[in-house]
Amino acid sequence: MIRFARCNALLSLALDSNGKGCRYVAKGANDDEVVDNMSTHLTDVHQVDPGIMKYNILASTKTNNG
Ligand SMILES: [Zn+2]
Repeated sequence: MIRFARCNALLSLALDSNGKGCRYVAKGANDDEVVDNMSTHLTDVHQVDPGIMKYNILASTKTNNG
């Protein structure tokens, strides 16, 4: 079972490093891994403080049953 969160569900106008809509998907075996993964992405690509985004990440984290 994989947990995942989409960057553009958090930052609706987020652009990736090429200036296109960000399609980054953070994945993990549990919520903590997804938060860690997405926090790194938010910091590196969007210069967003992940501390204030943690609950947004958790709120948009879903389970992939596929
Ligand atoms: Zn992104």
